[in-house]
Amino acid sequence: MEIKKIGVVGAGQMGAGIAQVAAASGLDAWICDISDDFIQKGLDGIRKNLDRMVTKEKITADEANAIMNRLHKAPGLGDLAEVDFVVEAATENEKLKLEIFEKLDKITEPHVILASNTSSISITRIAAATSRPDKVIGMHFMNPVPIMKLVEIIRGLATSDQTVEATVTLSEFLGKTCTQSKDFPGFLVNRILMPMINEAFTALYEGIGSPEDIDNGMKLGTNQPMGPLALADLIGLDTCLAVMRVLHEGLGDSKYRPCPLLIQYVDAKWLGRKTGQGVYNYQK
Ligand code: NAD
Repeated sequence: MEIKKIGVVGAGQMGAGIAQVAAASGLDAWICDISDDFIQKGLDGIRKNLDRMVTKEKITADEANAIMNRLHKAPGLGDLAEVDFVVEAATENEKLKLEIFEKLDKITEPHVILASNTSSISITRIAAATSRPDKVIGMHFMNPVPIMKLVEIIRGLATSDQTVEATVTLSEFLGKTCTQSKDFPGFLVNRILMPMINEAFTALYEGIGSPEDIDNGMKLGTNQPMGPLALADLIGLDTCLAVMRVLHEGLGDSKYRPCPLLIQYVDAKWLGRKTGQGVYNYQK
């Protein structure tokens, strides 16, 4: 099946990034969120990214306009009735995702693949909310989507070989490289990454070092492009906490217990870059 029209659910940092990459690769993308304000915010962010690329002479102004023209607003999920493929990138909350997939299953054509960009939620459970579990898959893009090369493909218990093949083909068409993971809590990347971020919060909580010491130590000492606390601010502390909770509950091992400081920051709505305050302040 040829994929020309893609639906993206959620216009946050990941959804907007996925829509940008799809449109830059020549696909038409319909973006859906809970209000027009959120969709517009996503589109404004994409425009800003593209303008920056024009300034750096990576693309021309005409190319940027053509990409924007391939992006369309979908005020409701019903507006995704005619797309060929859906990537869901709404907030990391299982109940919400189950509701979205149940609706997408009724709205889209029966052959359409429904992918989730979830960081940690069971693809098998999401798939069971639909009547097409063979066509539900995890398509885990990394942040920021236009820059990061990886898409982690997660196969639910019932996901078919054809669905895996079509999703890998689409990811490669978008310029990405795929790895595959079985459907267990956190999959592969976050199973390894999030405990490191949680441990960095624990080191901060215990006063072992300042945020700068922790981040510079890991950056310069282990050759990471950014320290774990700065990375947590980029990902979103709410998303980090949601993933730790999935690991903790799903694997039942106390080593995945979310750090109390991470919980407190999320309670305070210190979610990182997206709210202007996380471990670091971004308001200036
Ligand atoms: P975000 O908070 O930036 O955006 C989430 C968006 O989903 C918001 O705009 C919100 O309004 C929207 N939304 C909520 N309910 C909705 C609904 N019913 N219908 C449509 N839209 C709805 O979050 P994000 O960082 O973009 O994360 C989105 C997903 O991507 C999550 O599942 C997350 O785990 C995953 N993810 C995040 C990262 C990361 O680094 N942030 C990386 C990989 C995967």
